[in-house]
Amino acid sequence: MTETINELRTAGPLFLPGGQDYDEERTGFQRSGAHRPTVIAGATGEDDVRAAVEYATTRGQQVTVQAGGHGLNRPLDGGVLISTRRMAGVRVDPSARTAWVEAGASWQQVIDAAAPHGLAPLSGSAPGVGAVSYTLGGGIGLLSRRYGFAADHVRSLQVVTADGRLRQVTPHSEPDLYWALRGGGGNFGVVTGMEIDLMPVRHLYGGGLFIDAEQAPDVLAGWQRWTETVPDEMTSAVAMLPFPDLPMVPQALRGRHVAQLQIAYTGSVADGRQLVEPLRALGPILRDTLRELPYSESGTVFDEPDVPHAYCSANRLLSELDPAALAALTTLAGPSAPVLCVVGLRHLGGALAGPPRVPSAVGHRRAAYSLGVLSLVEPGAEDTVRAVHGDAIAPFAPATLGRLLNFSFGPLNEEEVRSAYEPHDYRRLTELKARYDPRATLVSNHPIPAARR
Ligand SMILES: Cc1cc2nc3c(=O)[nH]c(=O)nc-3n(C[C@H](O)[C@H](O)[C@H](O)COP(=O)(O)OP(=O)(O)OC[C@H]3O[C@@H](n4cnc5c(N)ncnc54)[C@H](O)[C@@H]3O)c2cc1C
Repeated sequence: MTETINELRTAGPLFLPGGQDYDEERTGFQRSGAHRPTVIAGATGEDDVRAAVEYATTRGQQVTVQAGGHGLNRPLDGGVLISTRRMAGVRVDPSARTAWVEAGASWQQVIDAAAPHGLAPLSGSAPGVGAVSYTLGGGIGLLSRRYGFAADHVRSLQVVTADGRLRQVTPHSEPDLYWALRGGGGNFGVVTGMEIDLMPVRHLYGGGLFIDAEQAPDVLAGWQRWTETVPDEMTSAVAMLPFPDLPMVPQALRGRHVAQLQIAYTGSVADGRQLVEPLRALGPILRDTLRELPYSESGTVFDEPDVPHAYCSANRLLSELDPAALAALTTLAGPSAPVLCVVGLRHLGGALAGPPRVPSAVGHRRAAYSLGVLSLVEPGAEDTVRAVHGDAIAPFAPATLGRLLNFSFGPLNEEEVRSAYEPHDYRRLTELKARYDPRATLVSNHPIPAARR
């Protein structure tokens, strides 16, 4: 073993099972599993990535990539794990309003590099998430209704494909790869860096309005009616969740079932205040963190936990939200549910529904909402949790367009992955998989199989 590993020459460190730091290197944010590769390449740049891919390909082994590990669904057994956490550089070009983002950079690192220039990336609810992986999955964030999918604002990518070639991918140099990578996830190559657009956003009017859900059973339907009245500058979501009765939880929320309305508005503070006013009538307000905030604090809008844990979820993209289905959801995923559930609804539409500058593989653009149900999961409890999620989501079947892979935590089967795409796009993705990675050397968290010839 050590003999063959000596043939893998990288500038960055290698980690072997049983060796020092192997466990620490393979462990990411998602704790429901971890890769168990034969070797981990702690890549420091594109040469290391190429070396690792070539090493695997010539030995018929599989390769997977990990940045933050938020999206782990398919732990790799054996093979090569490319760990990109050492490739976290971000270079901003303020005059072009772009950033070059390396494979392992988190959104917070991009946000912090862009903010001094009055610019912001199309980042999401949790800034600790990896920017590249998020973007390859489409990327729906705090500015989405105003500017669209993150994937639609990628100018170019640098990618190592399964044949070990380093490719500069632009709409002109590699049109097929450029199309597939933006929405097709980690199926077509290992991205070493990407050039993205930055938006002229310094501040938001945003934060959270926390409503006592037990006193306001119709709060989800009330939020849905309100979303029909707002401009594209308003991106919002609602989470419904139980807060534990623990000292670290703000007093007003302890032990309560809460609807947390999450607001990100890019217009003026005065307009933002006026727009959210009707939401205050939806039920008793337990906490209010709405304010003007610098984009560098955008993580406080959703205020999601940043401590690694084990979770799984179900997700659907919906054409509408039926009030009867919302009422059923409130019960099926509410305080009396057999497992603790966090419901997440996001308002889509706006620029997300518009055509991209250059077509990409992102599917279901006409979805008006996304619905997710997420739970913490203990080993062995996965099937019970999935059954509860299935029941909670079932009433939305008539309005279901498909799935959003970025919000699907837990392994999906081929049909389920296919449901994320338009049928003709999925066919094209399988054909491109056959062209760029016919032996399925690259293992993505949501695999797309190669079309049979
Ligand atoms: C708390 C939380 C909040 C989130 N919020 C949002 C949100 O607002 N909007 C949104 O769209 N998504 C959101 N997501 C989903 C998130 O974008 C995905 O889970 C994403 O995959 C996480 O990136 P990562 O680098 O941390 O994950 P990793 O687990 O490191 O990577 C996930 C997968 O991406 C692929 N991949 C990673 N790096 C590369 C690379 N360099 N080249 C090719 N493929 C690669 C691999 O297939 C890998 O298995 C959220 C996730 C969490 C846990």
